[in-house]
Amino acid sequence: MGHIIAVSNQKGGVGKTTTCVNLAACLGQAGRRTLVVDLDPQANATSALGIDPHQLASTIYQALIGRAPILPLDLTPTGIDNVSLLPSSMDLAAAEIDLLGVENREHQLRRILEPLSPSFDYILIDSPPSLNILSVNALSAARWVLIPVQAEFMALEGLAHVINIVQRIHAGFNPSLELLGLAVTLYDRRTRLAAEVVRELETIFDGKVFASRITRSVRLSEAPSHGKPIIYYDPKSPGARAYQELSEEIQHACEKTGLGPGA
Ligand code: ADP
Ligand code: MG
Repeated sequence: MGHIIAVSNQKGGVGKTTTCVNLAACLGQAGRRTLVVDLDPQANATSALGIDPHQLASTIYQALIGRAPILPLDLTPTGIDNVSLLPSSMDLAAAEIDLLGVENREHQLRRILEPLSPSFDYILIDSPPSLNILSVNALSAARWVLIPVQAEFMALEGLAHVINIVQRIHAGFNPSLELLGLAVTLYDRRTRLAAEVVRELETIFDGKVFASRITRSVRLSEAPSHGKPIIYYDPKSPGARAYQELSEEIQHACEKTGLGPGA
């Protein structure tokens, strides 16, 4: 069965999609069969993997509202080695309403992923930047939650909220959900504040902060408009190296120890 990881943080612009797409490409490069599940109606992960969301006949939306099952054959190939995609579309914005009358609406993604899981080593779920039925579905389907966090003023307040949500999903819907770790994104090595925030994170989340730092880089922000992960767009860039390191840490955490980083 694949390791199912929800990349989650209710805050927008912290690097969830960037982390999801680039981590998937690195895992694929390391020979791991990887599925990206785009659960954001904005479909940023879908387009960052080079797929035009407007050209798709079927997306995760149909499956979520119970119209059609998804077979491994239906998954969208991406042109990225070992990476498949369960794409999103704008329709997904209506899922909140469409799922209202559905029994077990929190568990629809879990139902979809169960039969797909044996075909993959990793399933990465990109979540929308809000707390809604879609992000609840992501956390209910996952074994692990990976939280991208920007080292900035007020980061801890935002994180307290994420952790509270994870604990509530753990208690209410998914007792196997565990924190995989925090990935520091959009890091600025030049500022003292960033270093201080990371030090504080390491104290509070002892052993759960991945050592790789994803620094702020223009190349990383350019790559999605070319429909390519950074290891394809600019393989020698610091961003490519940082995501490869994070990918190695995550493989180690999931495959070697079964526990989070530093364990
Ligand atoms: P989220 O999915 O959490 O909303 P994104 O991954 O979409 O966040 O990132 C928000 C914006 O910041 C995007 O435009 C993205 O290209 C850019 N971005 C993300 N990570 C980096 C980085 N390390 N360096 C530069 N730009 C980044
Ligand atoms: Mg996003």
